[in-house]
Amino acid sequence: MSSGAIGEKRPLPRDNRFISKSTFLNGLQCAKLLWFRYNAKDQIPAANELTQAIFDQGHKVGQLARSLYPEGIEIAPGVTDFDEVLALSRKALPHRRPLFEAAFQFNGDYARADILNPVGQDQWDIIEVKSTTKVKDVHRHDLAFQAYVFNGAGLNIRRCVLAHINSDFVKRGPVDARKFFTLEDVTVIVAGLSQTVESRLDEMFRTIRLPRHPDVQIGPHCDTPYTCALHEVCWGFLPESNVMTLYRGGAKGFKLLQDGVSDLKDISDEFALTNNQDIQRRAARTGQPHVDKAAIGAFLKQIKYPISFMDFETFNTAVPKFDGLQPFQQVPFQFSLHVVESEDGEPKHHKYLAAGVDDPRPEFMRQLRAALPARGSVVAFNAPFELGRLEECCALMPEFRAWVKNVRGRTVDLLLPFRGFRYYHPQQNGSASMKAVLPALTGKGYDHLAIRDGGMASLQYLHVTYGEASEAERTQIRQQLDEYCGMDTLGMHFIVESLSTLASR
Ligand code: SF4
Repeated sequence: MSSGAIGEKRPLPRDNRFISKSTFLNGLQCAKLLWFRYNAKDQIPAANELTQAIFDQGHKVGQLARSLYPEGIEIAPGVTDFDEVLALSRKALPHRRPLFEAAFQFNGDYARADILNPVGQDQWDIIEVKSTTKVKDVHRHDLAFQAYVFNGAGLNIRRCVLAHINSDFVKRGPVDARKFFTLEDVTVIVAGLSQTVESRLDEMFRTIRLPRHPDVQIGPHCDTPYTCALHEVCWGFLPESNVMTLYRGGAKGFKLLQDGVSDLKDISDEFALTNNQDIQRRAARTGQPHVDKAAIGAFLKQIKYPISFMDFETFNTAVPKFDGLQPFQQVPFQFSLHVVESEDGEPKHHKYLAAGVDDPRPEFMRQLRAALPARGSVVAFNAPFELGRLEECCALMPEFRAWVKNVRGRTVDLLLPFRGFRYYHPQQNGSASMKAVLPALTGKGYDHLAIRDGGMASLQYLHVTYGEASEAERTQIRQQLDEYCGMDTLGMHFIVESLSTLASR
């Protein structure tokens, strides 16, 4: 692969700052984000725990990929001095061994390769490891930048390869990296993209030197390919009830913003909206919920006593933890069940939270079958998620198939009246999720809890189960997990009560 895109050395920015691979990708996403990275980094909010967990997962996948090259050597582990890392990378080249995290600089740009694999006398393949099951455009740009820098630094690059996760992989025994990864040769497309790197970098250096950030309007690019770290900053001007909350609004919201309309209630009557979006506009104007009593009544009629409100918490990891799992497959580790026997009965709570490091699914299934009444309705919010996990567990434990089929036949999805806008409260802001519906409809919510969403529940469970946590922390977080999952099912009971009251008025 030649370095045809390489031109004259450009003057370096004032203080000799350079553009790294990650900032190059930031710059491709948005000029404003790039400017902040260089000129006001302190104003970019730190990555939250979920984002950090995604980084950590990527690190684990990267470590596994190294086992593809057992002769490989890691360059400068623990070294933070930039010049030293560059010098050690250069020094390792003559060894002609696979290099992990080798770094090179060219023309004010800096890149570090996951893996550089020597080929023949003097060539190298770049292997970029991604913890995704598909190759994305951003991955090709990532490699194009690396190829540009490495070629410019004097390396003879033969091929550019993406090592991404094989979605068909199923764990059976120790994870074999040769089966876990799919190696995709993207040399041809990367060579083309590499030709554009030079001019893009020139533009980026001009942006970095601007005295003030460029005025970039918010748009779909704020979430593509990644949710921007400045999202809350740039989107903060929107009123709470804003046009970006239009249900399945897509480009419509951005069109309204361009026309100077940001509040739902200010959308003119002439502007074409779907029926559900029109309900949102009316609710925003009146401040009152939309209630379709007849439809809610019909929905409630299908729910029979005893009612079992059921919710699962799950985790998923890129590298499967247990045999039979695929990458990113959800593993249920906790359930909550509130059972109401009769119309004036009080909800009775049953729960399970896996202990220990073994596969939680067998005991999860046994406990759930023991706790769930054999008759009556099973109510879940977004029921296909719970039913999907039960079906998957049957692949591991076929003896549960008949029982799961029975549960499926009497399951009612509490999401449906909200997703169908049979009930809509302006405080839902276009969302039919449990977290939006419960406070809007019942005045109850999750604010008093330490764990408030499923993503955090999953992270905390992984932390106290497989990470380094003290006994006191483990006890505390398991208590918080109980409270969170319990709130989901008690919340469903409150929602059904409130809907019943509305329907009977
Ligand atoms: S939130 Fe959007 S407009 Fe703001 S910096 Fe990020 S990508 Fe650019």
